[in-house]
Formats: sequence, structure tokens, C-alpha cells
Amino acid sequence: MRLSNYFLPTLKEDPKEAEIVSHRLMLRAGMIRQQAAGLYSWLPLGYRVLRKIQAIIEQEQARAGAIQMLMPTLQPAELWRESGRYDDYGKEMLRISDRHDRDLLFGPTNEEMITDIFRSYVRSYRELPLNLFHVQWKFRDEIRPRFGTMRSREFLMKDGYSFDIDREAAEKSYHRMFVAYLRTYHRMGLAAIPMRAETGPIGGDLSHEFIVLADTGESGVFCDRNILEKPIPPADTDFEGDLSSIVSDWTSAYAATEDMVDMAEFEARVPAQRRISARGIEVGQIFYFGTKYSTAMNALVTGPDGRDAAVHSGSYGIGLTRLVPALIEAFHDEDGIVWPTSVAPFEVVLLNLKTADEKCSSICDKMYHDLKNAGIDVLYDDTGAGAGSKFATADLVGIPFQLIIGPRGARSGEAEIKNRSTGQRQSVALEQAVPLLQKTIEPERRDRI
Ligand code: ATP
Ligand code: MG
Repeated sequence: MRLSNYFLPTLKEDPKEAEIVSHRLMLRAGMIRQQAAGLYSWLPLGYRVLRKIQAIIEQEQARAGAIQMLMPTLQPAELWRESGRYDDYGKEMLRISDRHDRDLLFGPTNEEMITDIFRSYVRSYRELPLNLFHVQWKFRDEIRPRFGTMRSREFLMKDGYSFDIDREAAEKSYHRMFVAYLRTYHRMGLAAIPMRAETGPIGGDLSHEFIVLADTGESGVFCDRNILEKPIPPADTDFEGDLSSIVSDWTSAYAATEDMVDMAEFEARVPAQRRISARGIEVGQIFYFGTKYSTAMNALVTGPDGRDAAVHSGSYGIGLTRLVPALIEAFHDEDGIVWPTSVAPFEVVLLNLKTADEKCSSICDKMYHDLKNAGIDVLYDDTGAGAGSKFATADLVGIPFQLIIGPRGARSGEAEIKNRSTGQRQSVALEQAVPLLQKTIEPERRDRI
């Protein structure tokens, strides 16, 4: 992408409305624009990050055996009257009526709709287990939307739902998602710690929240430092096999949110020097809720014994539009964002330091062509801005590698590669730049982790 043709409305000044660094940087880097309280447009750069996150989530869901689909944002109220949640959900639910005065709502979550789909088609235990997910916009009329897309009213969520014949099978489905989540966040470069959590309006008796530690987080959390050392299950993990040992290894270390923490237990189980008592951002939550919705909505399957029984379910959410600011909270410095390569909007920014210099520009144009051909996501700063301003923008938007070419290098056959995260600069021969970047970036994509 040539910057001269792109839409990257960066801001020089710190926006006053932003209280936390991620919100500030998302506005300054031209990633989002607020349209009303808790409603945001995703501008091109922000949207690229969102899509990279979505691709990682989709790959890891597929690896774990979940099947992608798409449900609408609007839902009929009747389904929610069946489960009893139409009234329970209160003011967070945006209620709408259509021209025929039929009651609709903008979905805050999809347990009811997926249970309706399930009961319409699935009759036998032979069709189980089943895990269906989608990535779709949700609306919750939050009392205090804040911190940009960290807590917005409209937000993008991956929500998945598992269906099993009994509790034992449902726990296996829960384990698959638990492991998939560990891998998903890890591929984004994030340490998201699974913590015992309250089940809230979703209901049920088994739940974990995945929490990224951050001072600006809204949840108080308590955990054993040891959990940060646990191994991430590899890409070739057998998701059809028994994952209980992985889950029990992770859950053996104490980790709970403030709603669930038992201080006496925390202090008894975790030696003082290993106790983390901190703030965190909830980037996902998984629940097992048994037959809560299937009983209320009559979603039955025939078991091997020929009898009908309510299906056992769980639900599994990841907040995509919250992950973007969570990543920035974890990865930034005084100059701007420092994206991990796997979620970066572009992998390389090519800086032409003097577009008026013909030699410099022709070398940069060729380099741009070669980078694209090598399969590298490149943003080419071919604008007439001065070098200082180009460096500042490149640092602000946080692209992991800067390939810098000026008139002097163009003549001596040299370019410079700057690593955004370490700040290290390295001179390379022009013809070595693309192969070197390719070799460096490949493992950082984390495709095979
Ligand atoms: P919170 O406690 O932060 O209000 P929640 O527990 O109500 O969130 P879930 O129903 O568990 O949310 O939704 C799954 C995920 O969706 C959350 O883990 C979070 O990452 C994301 N999410 C929930 N509410 C919002 C919101 N208002 N803005 C952005 N992301 C959200
Ligand atoms: Mg939650």
C-alpha cells in the first residue's frame, strides 16, 4: 500500500478525551473514530489489525474443531422470552420494534439463537459433539462506555457454543476451547491468564476469564506468578485426544478474579513472593452452563439409550475490538505503538526519505515491488513529507520493521532496517534487504507456534 493513496488520518496532538494510553494511541494513529458514545468506526489501519486478530482466532477455532457460521445482529424477542432473559437483561439490551410492531433486539450474545438453530436440526447424540461459532457485532447499552473500544456499546465478539450429550462430554468441549484460547492469545504475543470467574447473566457453574495484566484493567485479579511460566500447547496438539492434563496443569496454579477470590485460600496456597495482586483486562470468557438454555427452550437429543435428554452446552467469547486496545496497553512506548508482527497492520514500512531524488525514488519503487512479491505486508511512505515526520509517523503507528532508504544509501547501495521494538538499526546492502526481512518476519508471524 502506498501511503500517498492510503487513508491514515494521524493526529499530532494528544486527544483530550482519551484517559488511557491505548485509547490515545488508537486515535492518534488514525485507527478509530468515535461516532457517538461507545460507537466507533474502524478506519483502515485499525481495521487491518482487527482482521489479523480475527484470522488468528478463526484458525485456532478451526484447529480445535469449531465450525464457523454467521447469525444476524438483530434477534426476535420471542427467543429471549423463552429463556426468560428478555426481562432479566434489563437496560443493557437495546430493544427495537419493526414496522409491524414486532419486538426485536440487537443481540448482546447468542445463546438463545444458537439453541434455536440446534433444536431445529439436531435430534440424536450421534451428531454430537458440535461446536458452532461466529464473529459478529454485539450491542450492550453499557452504563459507562469508556476507554475507546475497550468498553464500547457496539463491539465485535467471537462467540462459540458447544453441544454435548452429557456433562463429561461437555467438559471435553470446554477443555478444547480452554486450550484453543491459550494458543490464540499466545499467537498474538499476549499472556492471557485463565482465571476462575463468576458466571454472571450467562449462568452455569464452570467458567474462566482470560485476563491480560494491565494497570488500566477494570478487573482486580489474584494469581500465582508460576502460571506465567506454564507451557503453551503446541500447534500439533491432538484436539481429539484428552486435554484434561493440560487444563489441570494450568488450573493447578491459583488464579481468580476479584468476584471469585478467596483471600484465605490465595494466601494459603501461594507463597508471598509469588503472589500477584493486580489489575487486568478481560479479553475472553468461557462458560459451561449445562442444560440452562436447552431445558428452557426444549433442545433435546436422543441418547444411546433411546431416551430424550436436554443437551449440555457451553459458550465461549473473545472480545476482538477489546483485544486491539489490550494489545496496545501491553505493547507501546513513549513514541507510539509497538505491534507484535502477528497482529501488526503492516509488517514493514518502507520509508523513502527523499521522494524528490529520482535515484532514491526509483530504488524505493523497486523495493516496494520486491517486498510485495515476497508476500510481505508493506506500507510504502512515498509522500513528500520530511524525514523527521516520516520517522515519527512510522514509530507512532508501530509497524515492526522500518526499511529506510535515503539519497545517500541509494548511491552507496545501502538501506537501513530499524526494529521498532528494540530500536536497533542495521545497515544492509540493498539486495539483501528483502531476503533478510523475509527471514526475520517468517517466525514472527507465529503461524506454526
Ligand atoms: P465485562 O465484564 O468486561 O463487562 P462481560 O463479562 O460482560 O464483560 P462476556 O459476556 O464474557 O463479557 O463477553 C465476552 C467478551 O466480550 C469479554 O470477555 C470481552 O472481551 C468482550 N466484551 C464484553 N463487553 C464488552 C464491551 N462493552 N466492549 C468491548 N468488549 C466487550
Ligand atoms: Mg465475561
